[in-house]
Amino acid sequence: MVHISVITTATSTAVSIAVSLASALTLVSAHPNIHLASSSSSGHGPHALEKRAPAAGPSCSTTYTPVAAGQYPAIDCVPFIQDPQVQTWLKLVDFSKTPVFPPSQKGVCPTDKTTIPQDQCWWTCQKCDAPDDITSCPATGTWGLTFDDGPSPDSPRLYDNLLQHNQKATLFIVGSRAISFPATLKRAYNEGHQIAIHTWSHPSMTSLTNEQIVAELKWTEKAIFDTIGVTPIYWRPPFGDVDARVRNIATQLGLKTSIWTQDFDTNDWNIPAGVATPQSVVDTFKGWLTKIPSMPHGFIVLEHDLFPEEVNVSINGVLPVAYATKGLLMQPIAQCLNDGKPYREGAGTFKLLPGGGGSGLNGTSTDNKNSATGLGGVLAGQAVLVASALTCLVSFAM
Ligand SMILES: [Zn+2]
Repeated sequence: MVHISVITTATSTAVSIAVSLASALTLVSAHPNIHLASSSSSGHGPHALEKRAPAAGPSCSTTYTPVAAGQYPAIDCVPFIQDPQVQTWLKLVDFSKTPVFPPSQKGVCPTDKTTIPQDQCWWTCQKCDAPDDITSCPATGTWGLTFDDGPSPDSPRLYDNLLQHNQKATLFIVGSRAISFPATLKRAYNEGHQIAIHTWSHPSMTSLTNEQIVAELKWTEKAIFDTIGVTPIYWRPPFGDVDARVRNIATQLGLKTSIWTQDFDTNDWNIPAGVATPQSVVDTFKGWLTKIPSMPHGFIVLEHDLFPEEVNVSINGVLPVAYATKGLLMQPIAQCLNDGKPYREGAGTFKLLPGGGGSGLNGTSTDNKNSATGLGGVLAGQAVLVASALTCLVSFAM
């Protein structure tokens, strides 16, 4: 569920309503003059959280009913833990090894963050990375290209663009979207993108019980496996909302926690929310181009393909400039980490290209998607050119 405010440009009247994420998609597509504003948009402070409103809104039933054979839980609702399937999955986790921290209130940080125990390592509230968190690509100038929240009716436009440029990405899939658009997920997999897990109903994971965390991850894993026949090893917590308790459960389930590099949030999710603009998103991107060459490592960027505005700003604004920037290496996360087996079953359709994680600033170029030569000088020199080119690009309708 997503709780949104609908503001019509004609009347400037704001009406708060709650609709399912799927309904929101239909609403936006059918009513381009309607702006959607997330009611939770101020809940996490200024730092780079990908925001969708929490799951389990008013229309999610609170009365348990078993999931019928071959079926899935209600979309966009936290699955019931009483379900026999979930009970089986719970046996995969030894909760006596799971750190004990109280569930958060919808992932919102306490006013006084010093009250959070240091060893909770809550990424969103303490800016704490655990040793195993994936938050960047190793090689300077390497961009871990990721898109969250799909598949959606707009995802094929993104896939078309990526295909035209022989560009692969990591796609963090919401289980509720996977069963809604299975053909789109199959296409993404068949075209060699890295498919990864982004939970069933997109909740703040720290707000859930241990058992609900298992249900969110495993139902998504099952929905993806049932659709494409492989089990992703990488997952991303919605909003980046993860702490030591959530990490421990994900790790016990064999999942690698993948977030994004602090401050490398395009804010594209805030365009449909009415807070960001295509221009501001591209301006954010411009800022990165100037600092990337001096970073000691690469970076992972937060982008989305749920709403049309998000896909538009990627294919009309950010990606064309990125493609034209020599030496900037965009790769799926598994590629930049030199991991040829992003699924429990192995490689699947994912092809680890020669050069592994790319050789960044000082590498030798054999394939401009894999490695680069002299990125620092090229990037620095191109920053000015890119900046002026962007001004033209963002004048297109997004
Ligand atoms: Zn998300």
